[in-house]
Amino acid sequence: MPLKFRLKGLAETFVDNVNCDCCGNQGGEDGDEGFSTDMSRVTLDGIVAVIECTHCGHIFVPKEQKLGVISLRKLRQAVENDSKVTGTPILSGLDEVALDVEKLNAIRDDHIQ
Ligand SMILES: [Zn+2]
Repeated sequence: MPLKFRLKGLAETFVDNVNCDCCGNQGGEDGDEGFSTDMSRVTLDGIVAVIECTHCGHIFVPKEQKLGVISLRKLRQAVENDSKVTGTPILSGLDEVALDVEKLNAIRDDHIQ
């Protein structure tokens, strides 16, 4: 079952299937069992799904995700506003999110002091 992420009037993203490279969790019958999507990010390219496997703690960016942008102008405004409010840097797209996620995994694995 594909997962769907939507920001009304701004963007939507579909993820066909999710499976964890780390422990092989495939999300059970509903496709999202044992996965948390709270870390998904909104970028200038659209919503980038970020999945955390609650079985093993691995965080990853599914490669098979389709990013759709409904209003580029509104999306950009929302991303810029959010950056101002939260002080987090603006991410341009999937590649930057993937880099960020690698850092999170490294911190969790304690490779970075
Ligand atoms: Zn896992």
